[in-house]
Amino acid sequence: MGRKFFVGGNWKCNGTTAEVKKIVTTLNEAEVPSEDIVEVVVSPPFVFLAFVKSLLRSDFHVAAQNCWVRKGGAFTGEVSAEMLVNLGIPWVILGHSERRLILNESNEFVGDKVAYALSQGLKVIACVGETLEQRESGSTVAVVAAQTKAIAEKVSSWENIVLAYEPVWAIGTGKVASPAQAQEVHFELRKWLHDNVGAEVAASTRIIYGGSVNGANCKELATQPDVDGFLVGGASLKPEFIDIIKSAT
Ligand code: PEP
Repeated sequence: MGRKFFVGGNWKCNGTTAEVKKIVTTLNEAEVPSEDIVEVVVSPPFVFLAFVKSLLRSDFHVAAQNCWVRKGGAFTGEVSAEMLVNLGIPWVILGHSERRLILNESNEFVGDKVAYALSQGLKVIACVGETLEQRESGSTVAVVAAQTKAIAEKVSSWENIVLAYEPVWAIGTGKVASPAQAQEVHFELRKWLHDNVGAEVAASTRIIYGGSVNGANCKELATQPDVDGFLVGGASLKPEFIDIIKSAT
């Protein structure tokens, strides 16, 4: 199978030039497992992408936090996939719950974005996850399956997609899913891929967990058989991000 552990850092809408420099310096000085063991991708706000790319060690990579759904043009305030490719940005996060919920991005819109970003040569961290209300009503698996289906319907290859399971109730709340809760949903997502896309895609696609991951809880989460890494918000701005990277081994 050989799914390489993946650790993404989503800096969200945070940082000044000085703070960004400090985070990158910490990352550059860290001793972490080699690129053969763990893939590390950090995602600063758009305005810092080129700056971070220019300073960051060469074994770590950068991701944008969003991109426009189609070719650029008269879409004020948007950033196109072509622009990211032009800047040499290899990854983009799409479908984050903050965009789905605050900016009303639908499953279909996210599916279109993923397909367009892939068509331009970007690699995609595609986020799915249920709200607390959906979990409590027993619809977690149906919700993440519908979000994944909307992507699967639009893409012809999963080679450049990392699927991030991020329960909304665990994002930025300090309430982390238990290792068993994370494993259960990751297992269901892999089963969904197996039954609806194919055995090879199910076996090879990395499914990473996000939601209040920190230096203290990452190790146990990382031992779960279907947890292939993490998407980290708050803790990716702190030195403990290094401990999370190290949980790959
Ligand atoms: C995120 O926003 O992707 C995230 C996982 O945030 P946090 O780690 O802060 O919960």
